[in-house]
Amino acid sequence: MENTSENKEITNGKERVKRISLGILAHVDAGKTTLSEALLYLSGAIRKAGRVDNQDAFLDTYELEKKRGITIFSKQAQMEWKDSKITLLDTPGHVDFSAEMERVLQVLDYAVLVISGADGVQGHTRTLWKLLERYNIPAFLFVNKMDQAGTDREKLMNGLKTQLGEGFVDFGRDQNRETFLEELAVCDENVLEHYLQEGEVRSEEIRRMIRERKVFPCYFGSALKIDGVEALLDGIAAYTEEKEYPGDFRAKVYKISRDSQGIRLTHIKVTGGKLKVKDLLDGMDQKEEPWEEKVDQIRLYSGEKYEMLQEAQAGMVCALTGLTHTWPGEGLGGEEDAEDPALEPVLEYKVQLPPGCDVHQMLQNLRRLEEEEPMLRVVWEEELGEIYVRLMGEVQIEILKSLIQERFGVNVTFDAGRVVYKETIQNTVEGVGHFEPLRHYAEVHLLMEPGERGSGLVLESACSEDELNLNWQRLILTHLGEKVHRGVLTGSAVTDMKITLMSGKAHLKHTEGGDFRQATYRAVRQGLMQAESILLEPYYEFLLEVPTEMTGRALTDIQNMGGECELPEQEQEMTVLKGRAPVAAMREYPREVAAYTRGMGHLTCTFWGYDQCQSQEEVIKAAAYDPDRDEENPSGSVFCSHGAGYYVPWQEVPEHMHLPSCLGREPKGPEEGRTMERRKTAAWGAEEKELEEIFIRTYGKVERKRQDGWKRQVRSMDEREKKKKDPAETEYLLVDGYNVIFAWEDLKELAKVNIEGARHKLMDVLCNYQGYRGCQVILVYDAYQVEGEHLEIMKYHNIHVVYTKETETADQYIEKVVHQIGRKYHVTVVTSDGVEQVVTLGQGGTLISAREFREDVKIMEQQLREEYLERHGSSRNFLFDHLDEELAAHMEDVRLGRKDLEN
Ligand code: GDP
Ligand code: MG
Repeated sequence: MENTSENKEITNGKERVKRISLGILAHVDAGKTTLSEALLYLSGAIRKAGRVDNQDAFLDTYELEKKRGITIFSKQAQMEWKDSKITLLDTPGHVDFSAEMERVLQVLDYAVLVISGADGVQGHTRTLWKLLERYNIPAFLFVNKMDQAGTDREKLMNGLKTQLGEGFVDFGRDQNRETFLEELAVCDENVLEHYLQEGEVRSEEIRRMIRERKVFPCYFGSALKIDGVEALLDGIAAYTEEKEYPGDFRAKVYKISRDSQGIRLTHIKVTGGKLKVKDLLDGMDQKEEPWEEKVDQIRLYSGEKYEMLQEAQAGMVCALTGLTHTWPGEGLGGEEDAEDPALEPVLEYKVQLPPGCDVHQMLQNLRRLEEEEPMLRVVWEEELGEIYVRLMGEVQIEILKSLIQERFGVNVTFDAGRVVYKETIQNTVEGVGHFEPLRHYAEVHLLMEPGERGSGLVLESACSEDELNLNWQRLILTHLGEKVHRGVLTGSAVTDMKITLMSGKAHLKHTEGGDFRQATYRAVRQGLMQAESILLEPYYEFLLEVPTEMTGRALTDIQNMGGECELPEQEQEMTVLKGRAPVAAMREYPREVAAYTRGMGHLTCTFWGYDQCQSQEEVIKAAAYDPDRDEENPSGSVFCSHGAGYYVPWQEVPEHMHLPSCLGREPKGPEEGRTMERRKTAAWGAEEKELEEIFIRTYGKVERKRQDGWKRQVRSMDEREKKKKDPAETEYLLVDGYNVIFAWEDLKELAKVNIEGARHKLMDVLCNYQGYRGCQVILVYDAYQVEGEHLEIMKYHNIHVVYTKETETADQYIEKVVHQIGRKYHVTVVTSDGVEQVVTLGQGGTLISAREFREDVKIMEQQLREEYLERHGSSRNFLFDHLDEELAAHMEDVRLGRKDLEN
């Protein structure tokens, strides 16, 4: 495999080789793969031209491609012709794979567009032509299948000019003829001038005009009969030029894949300088985390085989191993990252696994595929324990199915699938989120405005540094960007909205990063609850070709599907309709077209974008989404009173919030409003009394309500300090044990193999929690499924662990306890059960979800570590530190059977 000829040639530096990457594009079935084979055969890169029909085409390596005779994933091959080293890139032709194609286009120096001589320019040919225009790629044309009867060279040339535009010149004829030179000369003013004077067109002028996309050389022939292919190769060798590359290393990543051994490959084109094996590369991954890794191997692929290079030169297209964080579209070295493709997955399917297949394992496998396929999105629905995949189109489903079969040996099926909706807002609102359980603090105010269609989420900060430290601001923007925010109509992703951070507040001592996450998420949802939301659905842009006599039928269909279209264009006996229509309505339509036109018609769809949903009411009804019951995405806030957090529903948040509303306020620039007082206010480290004075001085005129908020905070902080001495302030934490175990990933995994271990691990966590936070923990496990007639209360270090009676569930028990002690003590319940939520809140308890509690525990563990480090050496025993004697005695009584809890 090791081959150094490449490098020798370069170090000798004598022979000037021209290196170009050449892409072959075509409407499906025009003969792209056949032409690639012919090119490779002629150049000597392969000994015999494979045949698509015999399923042995060199570039169609993927099993399914061989079976179906279509090219799905882009491949590459190396070939040489005269002084040119050509990397041939075969691109996927089906519209479903356009995203991958767009990436490949970005690394092409030149393209060959293949057109079937029997069909001329077809709908998809125009789409491809537009893409080549967009990426500014010079192109040659090969008009294929000229061996078939009825093909007319003149007619085809005219067709190209009328349908695709200027610059098409037949290069297949005698290149010294006057007509040929004239045709060339008229494409460029300077060339024309020179031609009129000297009667010649120089080769370098032709090369320049091709490079500048003023001339598109056309060749005619038959790929199958290897006729006219040599002329095309000669033309490519004669009229292409190598790009000029800068000297510093740069590269574009255009694809991620894995080889047959499962080794991750980063496919790049070197766009500057050179890259050596063991060179250190760095970048940002898709989560904006920096990475730095060594290049292990540089592979120059040709079909399935590759040679290893010690060094890759500018202009080369190769694959790197050793990199694990790269992503398609990433720029390495001095290269810029590519823009996101304009396409996105609009269809969603549920993955149905065969019996006995582990869903988590499959999720992991699919995540690997997701990385390789830019258009595949894997969605994990935690609550349902189901995997969904999102794709561009229907054909991908079949391909994904056989890919999974081949790679992981699992035969999955998919449901009928559905369209992916989105939501946006129609008016401007202020979203406020506050998060202040014991020893936490964060408040966030966001201005949420409707954005243009297709603009996505635009995030900005208009908050002055005096008001909120820049680091907190950055963190809030990160939290806004890191998550798909769910709309309140159907729980679909929110888009086309501008979110501006207007103000926010932190506490020097008590604010943790996680607090701003909570406050930010809640602020978004609180804003959405107030806003007027609308549903968006994906639209296709379509090109529909039907026999002219069926135009009426086609127009009616488009209208019925809620689509719109431009004036029909008649081309001979076919009529072309161009327009856009909802994806949901178009999904079945290709089949219908094939049926009513008896195979004569042709429909090409490309993703257009999202726009207002035409059946909003129906979709919302079918989704049956209740934003108030979406526990993962709460819209209310947590405020603090008497040293304990309590939940405030979204409608009431404005009455409790600590900062004034930002609606109608001009966003403050960083230079404005910078007074000493304000800065001091932001600095919470000072004595609280002093702070209160500053606060009143600064916000003296502010209405009563806000001062209340302030006072409440100050008081509650004092009370936190007093708490240990005041039994009335004792807090109880009731934990629904199994609920937490199954909500925490690590415990859940452990529980699968060792349930007893998981129970004990949670107990240990809670011991520390009680010790540190100073609350009383009662952990409840229901035993009602196992045998056990009696309620059992166990003492485990400083906490109490309750095993309920066989007939009693944990939530029944918890409800009872809340009822009994809730009037006297503050009780917090950790669970994630929706039914229980209603009950316990009714009793005056506070509820936090297992997930939120996880966050709290993490923070606690972090603090514990830090404190431990600080006081290194001093032995502090967290257990028994804050045990409330009264309750301890009570629990002991029950445990020893001296007392029944019901009394
Ligand atoms: P692709 O989908 O663009 O890759 O097209 P293929 O290379 O797979 O070819 C599609 C079909 O057209 C195959 O059945 C080929 O054998 C056939 N074909 C390709 N080139 C020619 C040609 O020059 N003449 C004729 N008659 N058939 C061809
Ligand atoms: Mg093909």
